[in-house]
Amino acid sequence: MIDLKKSEVWFVTGSQSLYGEDTLRQVAAHSQTIVQGLSASAHIPVSIVYKPVVTSSDAIYALCLEANSSASCVGLITWMHTFSPAKMWIAGLNVLKKPFMHLHTQYNREIPWGEIDMDFMNLNQSAHGDREFGFIGSRMRLERKVVVGYWQDPEVQEEIGVWARAACAWHDAQGARVARFGDNMREVAVTEGDKVEAQIRLGYSVGGYGIGDLVDAVSQITDSEIDRLVSVYDDTYRVAEPLRKGGSQRGALREAARIEVGMRAFLEAGRFKAFTTSFEDLHGMEQLPGIAVQRLMADGYGFGAEGDWKTAALVRAMKVMGAGLDGGTSFMEDYTYHFAGAQSRVLGAHMLEVCTSIAGEKPALEMHPLSIGGKKDPARLVFTARPGPAINATLLDMGNRFRMVVSEVDVVSPDAPLPKLPVARAMWVPRPNLKVAAGAWILAGGAHHTSYSQAVTASHLQDFAEIAGLEFLCIDANTTIANFKKELRWNESYYLLAKGL
Ligand code: MN
Repeated sequence: MIDLKKSEVWFVTGSQSLYGEDTLRQVAAHSQTIVQGLSASAHIPVSIVYKPVVTSSDAIYALCLEANSSASCVGLITWMHTFSPAKMWIAGLNVLKKPFMHLHTQYNREIPWGEIDMDFMNLNQSAHGDREFGFIGSRMRLERKVVVGYWQDPEVQEEIGVWARAACAWHDAQGARVARFGDNMREVAVTEGDKVEAQIRLGYSVGGYGIGDLVDAVSQITDSEIDRLVSVYDDTYRVAEPLRKGGSQRGALREAARIEVGMRAFLEAGRFKAFTTSFEDLHGMEQLPGIAVQRLMADGYGFGAEGDWKTAALVRAMKVMGAGLDGGTSFMEDYTYHFAGAQSRVLGAHMLEVCTSIAGEKPALEMHPLSIGGKKDPARLVFTARPGPAINATLLDMGNRFRMVVSEVDVVSPDAPLPKLPVARAMWVPRPNLKVAAGAWILAGGAHHTSYSQAVTASHLQDFAEIAGLEFLCIDANTTIANFKKELRWNESYYLLAKGL
């Protein structure tokens, strides 16, 4: 469902005409070599596309317009191999709607001590050419990523790759559709928000559907479609005895499969990328969708429970950012604590809806009662997330802006089996520890719902937040409550004043 190779980042080299044709030909050849190097890098998931060297305001303006209207261009990399007087860039940057990254690199790694002359100096001058370009970006108050270093270094390529992934997620969100089955869970605050503002700022639209629309789609599913999916379940999971062929819950499992096929058909027909459900609004549905949501998330859909459209869109964005990387991304909720001093842990889970992409083992397919919602027992996949570093991210509507909070955590194995816990779960130790991390999260107003990922890092989300113009707060190993409180206060005044800039 998500293929980042189809996305293009355009590599744009700035220069000017005073150097003459020979020098410009060399500039172009060097740029092409860099493009080939970046394209071949395993750290960069998109196609890097060479664009002819620009030497005039008209050419830069035309290129920016072309980038804006390109369906496959997710952003630009700019580089000034030679000096490119930056007034030439004003018209273009004024209309550019795609994100851009300024790669501050140099064609040659080292100074050729014995050979260097003024011709060499005049060709290899990004050390000051890129400063001229940097000034106009700052003068115009443009958000952009600046990456410094030699273009062949893995660290530089990694930074480009991280930014490219964020740019892909941003591109994916523009015009994206989020389906909301039912409304917000009654009286819940944090899952609410300004959907008009979200569409203006973040690009996606959220549309509400009566649960009857979904029930219609589900009721049209044929027995043979259900047969096919149930046999996929049989082959893919550790199916509990009563759910197997001839078992007492086989009929209810078929109902769960009918829900999945119907939901998928509804989402595909409407070209949706994310969706929400609500256990308070299930009229005509026999079960709260469990395995259906888990498997749709695994296929790349964003999801939020209880009408949480912000988290649904964030899960989708992180699915895009993490595509092809090791580890998965899931809707998640901080559920319960294990207090144990410095090793205090969080047990994360949800009623049902945790994505199998984070599983550390083959999931078990089971059916258990749900204590809320008043419906029949829903089928769900049960597993424990694999250990390793991960993040939890949340997006909040603060009234005058959207705020993203990210918490870095280390996922661990539970101390003992959890034989009676009938849901998928992850257990983690937050950095620097639970006391500081939970304190900071609560002071920031972070939601109980998150998008959890073992593929995406805080760096991806920081780049995404900068592209999107979101406030970004990261809780990591260096966080202290005293400094975090100051950052919150400073941000309050910054975002108030920034509106006037
Ligand atoms: Mn919830």
